[in-house]
Amino acid sequence: MRMTKQNTFGIILALLASAACSRSGPGAENQPARPAAVDAARLLHADSEAGNWMTTGRTYGEQRFSPLADVNAQNVGQLALAWSYDLDTRRGQEATPLVIDGVMYFTTAWSKVVALDAATGARVWTYDPKVPPEWAVNACCDVVNRGLAAWNGKVFLGTLDGRLIALDAASGKPVWSTLTIDPAFRYTITGAPRVVKGKVLIGNGGAEMSVRGYISAYDAETGKLAWRFYTIPGDPSKPFENPALEKAAKTWTGEWWKLGGGGTVWDSMAYDADLDLLYVGTGNGGPWNERIRSPRGGDNLYLASIVALRPDTGEMVWYYQETPGEMWDYTSTQHIIVADITFDGKPRKVLLHAPKNGFFYVIDRTNGELLSAKPYTFINWATGVDMKTGRPVETGIARYPGPKPAPVVPGPLGAHSWQPMSFDPQTGFVYFSVHDAGFLYKSPEHFQKNALSPNYGIDVVAAELPQDPNIKKAIISSVKGRLVAWDPATQTQVWEAPRTTAWNGGVLSTAGGLVFEGTGDGNFEALRAANGEKLWSYFVQAGVVAAPVAYTVKGEQYVAILVGWGGVFPLAPGEIALRPKPLANIGRMLAFKIGGKASLPPPVEITPPVLNPPPATASPAAVAKGERIFQTYCAGCHGDAAVSGGILPDLRYSSSLSDDSWFNIVLGGSLVGNGMISFAKELSRDDAEAARAFVIYRANQSLAQSKSAGGSPGTKKH
Ligand code: CA
Repeated sequence: MRMTKQNTFGIILALLASAACSRSGPGAENQPARPAAVDAARLLHADSEAGNWMTTGRTYGEQRFSPLADVNAQNVGQLALAWSYDLDTRRGQEATPLVIDGVMYFTTAWSKVVALDAATGARVWTYDPKVPPEWAVNACCDVVNRGLAAWNGKVFLGTLDGRLIALDAASGKPVWSTLTIDPAFRYTITGAPRVVKGKVLIGNGGAEMSVRGYISAYDAETGKLAWRFYTIPGDPSKPFENPALEKAAKTWTGEWWKLGGGGTVWDSMAYDADLDLLYVGTGNGGPWNERIRSPRGGDNLYLASIVALRPDTGEMVWYYQETPGEMWDYTSTQHIIVADITFDGKPRKVLLHAPKNGFFYVIDRTNGELLSAKPYTFINWATGVDMKTGRPVETGIARYPGPKPAPVVPGPLGAHSWQPMSFDPQTGFVYFSVHDAGFLYKSPEHFQKNALSPNYGIDVVAAELPQDPNIKKAIISSVKGRLVAWDPATQTQVWEAPRTTAWNGGVLSTAGGLVFEGTGDGNFEALRAANGEKLWSYFVQAGVVAAPVAYTVKGEQYVAILVGWGGVFPLAPGEIALRPKPLANIGRMLAFKIGGKASLPPPVEITPPVLNPPPATASPAAVAKGERIFQTYCAGCHGDAAVSGGILPDLRYSSSLSDDSWFNIVLGGSLVGNGMISFAKELSRDDAEAARAFVIYRANQSLAQSKSAGGSPGTKKH
């Protein structure tokens, strides 16, 4: 086309018009110069910007309390769907969105990023870092991601395969990308970065995958590494990276560095500008079993601890170890809240923490002194915490000393996991999701470090759910979940809301006197903050594990939640995680407002498939061999004892049980595009055959049990 003067003029007019549109678009009331124009001043005073949610915990103190009160206990009954946005993945969704000047930014499974108009849900841009599907085998707990950080026109993403990527918040185009890991090791990133004083902070996961934990700081503009703090010592024959690690090395024995050691920083951080301290939660030991990791004992610093670091240098100022000599997967990576409360009659600057080990800690954040630790649910590994030493008083079964499996509570799921808590300064209560789930721990007869399986260092067959129907029923019914309101000033539970499943969502509280939580059975609820009375509920059609946020656009309040069932619970625990009515796991972002007019399409029901396995003809010895292989290599994703928890395929129903496609998949890697790698490096054809024999045995066992119970199998496939 020949360019005439007239149409050149037209194009210029159109460009001007579109520029004007984007100006008057989302968040125009705040007159942002450009998207995600977040700086130090705004983050330090995030609490005064009630309508925005600029960092994953809303403020540096991570209280996840919204000062918005337009939606409140009086009118929450009129809260209705304003818009929804369907995701392109049906894996677990754990992200807390950021909402900055009318634009919402969030991550999905597989580390993808979505930017939406926060008032309408209209897509602004999306970004896919194209995580190689085969990296999923390195993730203990689903291909999840918990969110982003924002700074100076950019949003920052940590990817499952260990990259830290800065995206232009206007376009979603990468500005820089840096690899934060040595890809020879099985690190994964699932946590949200934070930005403090121009540095992007990011850790990683992989304690079960033989890695050494650390947190790094990168320059937000260039992606250049500023500092790295390892949470545990490396090979002591080499120079220690800092004096804190030299001290820590005295608390380890054996050759832990050859096994990784763990202590990964895979989620929680909080920052206190007054004290200029960054608080970081560290993970469990790797392998779990201390007798393997550090054979002559020791506290194994700084596993399962809160460490306080200088955000400029990574220098450690203090630490408090919650679980010395950790050996149960008791991470301290759970959400850390900075709060000022009256404790023992005095105003105190504290951290509030409910890690996996079942104790609620109130810690003086100026120096790490323990002020109080009380169990927030039933536990049997310790009777309390000695306030003189700050150490737990362990019970006799805690360290699973005997030849029989020890039923320790809580188990590796913890009594509270990564699901964010909320501190409401109006009630003074902390709201969080608690679950009761024990575990059968036993030391293995032999330990072998594998490159393609998790390395727990426990007997994975002894830990299996017993198949005696009565015992199984009793165990499954003992696994429970609830939302709890906890008063940290008195260290007592104020109220609880029982849930139908153990694994539920993160929490938001608001100045409207409300607590919001999504549930594993697919409801999004508002409860009265003071007493837990249920005031509102909306069926979101998929299980929820993520935490909600509240924000405003043009003065109107919204409450938004990412839905999509996943995380570790519906993967490794298997049958315990199954819900009576499975739903298609459609991931969505949902936003609600008073008088919202949107609706969801009808829920997609799952038709239960029919169990039709080939006959079980393998010898008991082959089945037993296959059981160990399955529990070691397969159960982490396809479910304990070959029953899927409902997200990934239930192999009892697999057509590959009857033909050679089983070997093409397990050894040939024919489904690698789904994340199912080839295990040929560690499993022989005989091994793969034995694993199949075990699955066939279990499928026939399930069939027989369902026939004798007079119904269809209570286990279903997605
Ligand atoms: Ca772990």
